[in-house]
Amino acid sequence: MKQYILSIDQGTTSCRAIVFDKVGKTVGLGQKEFKQYFPKPSWVEHDPEEILKTQIECIKLAVANAKIDAEDIACVAITNQRETTVVWDRETGKPVYNAIVWQCRRTQAFADQLRDETDLVRSKTGLVPDAYFSGPKVRWILDNVEGARARAEAGKLCFGTIDSWLIWNLTKEATHATEGSNASRTMLFNIHTMEFDQELLSRIGVPASMLPKVLPSNANFGHTKKELVGFEAPILAVLGDQQAALFGQCCLEEGMAKCTYGTGGFLLANMGEKAKLTSGLLTTVAWQLEGKKPTYAFEGAIFVAGAAIQWLRDGLGIIESSEETENLANSISSNEGVYFVPALVGLGSPWWNSDVRGTIVGLTRGSGRAHFVRAALESMAYQISDVLEDMRNNGIVLRELRVDGGATKNAFMLQFQADVLGVPVLRASQSEATAWGVAAMAATRAGLIKSEKEMADLWQCDLKIFPTTDRKDDYRGWQSALKGAFAHAEAGSKN
Ligand code: ADP
Repeated sequence: MKQYILSIDQGTTSCRAIVFDKVGKTVGLGQKEFKQYFPKPSWVEHDPEEILKTQIECIKLAVANAKIDAEDIACVAITNQRETTVVWDRETGKPVYNAIVWQCRRTQAFADQLRDETDLVRSKTGLVPDAYFSGPKVRWILDNVEGARARAEAGKLCFGTIDSWLIWNLTKEATHATEGSNASRTMLFNIHTMEFDQELLSRIGVPASMLPKVLPSNANFGHTKKELVGFEAPILAVLGDQQAALFGQCCLEEGMAKCTYGTGGFLLANMGEKAKLTSGLLTTVAWQLEGKKPTYAFEGAIFVAGAAIQWLRDGLGIIESSEETENLANSISSNEGVYFVPALVGLGSPWWNSDVRGTIVGLTRGSGRAHFVRAALESMAYQISDVLEDMRNNGIVLRELRVDGGATKNAFMLQFQADVLGVPVLRASQSEATAWGVAAMAATRAGLIKSEKEMADLWQCDLKIFPTTDRKDDYRGWQSALKGAFAHAEAGSKN
């Protein structure tokens, strides 16, 4: 019987594929890393063909590990790293350049030129002009690959985020499509009309002929090619990774929020069917179900969350593993005034400042590695609180925060987060919230799950942490450390 969902989770450093049953149990998993290219400092690229090949291997591995008949896969779902940009030849299917990854800062100068048009960009796209988003990356490819702009204008090139690249290659229909949650990260897409915006396309310099069709997030995107992956099944849901986690955490009603603590930190709050705009936060399409209005979300994007711990391990070498950080942080009863602003690549939400740099304040002769570790863990919680403060000022009333991601293994960090926010923090039992989110959407479309309510009833948490300690003084300390970091950046730019 066709009872399984194959979920493709194409991430920044690895490809994964998971076979789920209809109650969200992982039946088989395939995961492989692929190569990161750093042609210049702050430039990051991926090879789209390597991503495709690695992804196909993972799909086969997941099915083999599941020990199921591939014919029993009812449907496929795709979730992906967002904003990463691919341009390929419509005829040959070959990329004209490597994928420019979301982290890549090469388009910062162009994004800065758009700062004067921040209000226009925000009002249409819900974003702020930043190198992070796809539009300027497409422009860069067209301006820097010989002949690319002329070919694009002649309708010979396609642009897509990674979802589009995978859909194009995996479907026998060779569909050139995307959906709202990914399109809303391009800075070319009007989130109110749910169409690409002519004014932004001209301003950024992207010909409309290159663009994918925007389908509902739970559309039928085409059928997988049997000769490639070993089975033919319809792709019935596609979502950007953070929106997939929001769905997987069953934040289906207005005001519900989740935070994923991985390399970066992403707090998304469901804001219902009305797209509200604010300066520090992004407004993004959460999903659009067929025949329904889009659901929107506020998003706070923190560039360095778990990455601060990686830096303590790989950059400073003061810890051996991330696991030891919990005991180290608990080994001191307070931060003793030491704060770390982990602006190692500037700061994202709610500040959007690419000049500010990492700053440590409050060191004394008695400071040791425990202080660095504790300050790094606390910084995740403070940054999320800064974002939530903005959300609260914009009408989001948070009753609890659902959390997932690698750093949520750390109970110290979660307790600290609950204390700073003043609301309970609930860690999902489903450790694959992202892959399961999009799989559940596809399963609902396929009829394996009867309703969103049935899906929401499956949600459980394995840890619920209530606030126990008043952290107002600590939070004030963080805010003055932030001021210090900004003052330093300001002074630097004047010199
Ligand atoms: P991503 O999907 O972004 O690669 P993951 O969800 O796999 O991230 O989480 C990995 C991140 O979590 C790393 O940055 C790592 O430093 C952090 N991390 C993992 N375990 C812990 C821990 N016990 N305490 C704090 N941070 C941790």
